[in-house]
Amino acid sequence: FIQIKSVSRVFNGGNGVHDLSIDIPRGSFVVLLGPSGCGKSTTLRLIAGLETADQGMIAIDGKDVTNVPPSKRGLSMVFQSYALFPHLSVAENIIFGLKVRKTSKDEIKTRLTEALNVTGLQGYEERKPAELSGGQRQRVALARAIVAGHPLCLMDEPLSNLDAKLRHSVRKDIRDLQQRLGITVVYVTHDQTEAMSMADIVILMKDGRIEQAGHPADLYLKPATAFAAGFVGSPP
Ligand code: ATP
Ligand code: MG
Repeated sequence: FIQIKSVSRVFNGGNGVHDLSIDIPRGSFVVLLGPSGCGKSTTLRLIAGLETADQGMIAIDGKDVTNVPPSKRGLSMVFQSYALFPHLSVAENIIFGLKVRKTSKDEIKTRLTEALNVTGLQGYEERKPAELSGGQRQRVALARAIVAGHPLCLMDEPLSNLDAKLRHSVRKDIRDLQQRLGITVVYVTHDQTEAMSMADIVILMKDGRIEQAGHPADLYLKPATAFAAGFVGSPP
């Protein structure tokens, strides 16, 4: 569904990502995992079009999008900071993008109801972000991402502002949501437990390159390198 071929993006100073090739199947939940600075966010931003590749090619759904702007790539993004508008209600936050795109009133209503249902936010429509818990705010961010109806959603450490208990439940919510909608999710985290419990495929990165990619169990049981073994906590 997403093809990344020999993509590099090198910043001044030499950091960035180098010669990445990744194939992401449609409908899969793929986790980019690795320590701080290994290039996870840069990879996600390259897929989103928020960063331009120095070389290489990126295709989404069979279409070369290497030089296509973010808004035309057919994807949504969820960030660590929820980036909600504080003066708008939950409902207004969720439908903001649809209004900008001049979606019809009926269509907006249908999609809002669906987004509220799948994120369990019914009854919270009129609240302001300040009147919500961290987990509820994160759900609003998720609802806003899915309301667009895109087949691809990119998430960059969406749970890092939540406490451990909430993290656990929202993790499950995200996975359920992805399966129910049948969308493809590329999810960034530095938390190996999160990666191992959520992913269909884990892509472990180190120093801007892919260290190992595969099913969580394969990484755990057959780590290719000492770094991989250490990072996913494989038994010695
Ligand atoms: P974290 O877990 O801390 O979010 P990350 O894996 O998401 O880390 P990236 O943000 O992708 O890492 O950064 C990869 C490398 O590229 C880092 O060394 C970072 O300092 C560097 N980098 C990222 N963006 C820029 C930029 N705009 N200018 C210069 N260097 C950058
Ligand atoms: Mg990052």
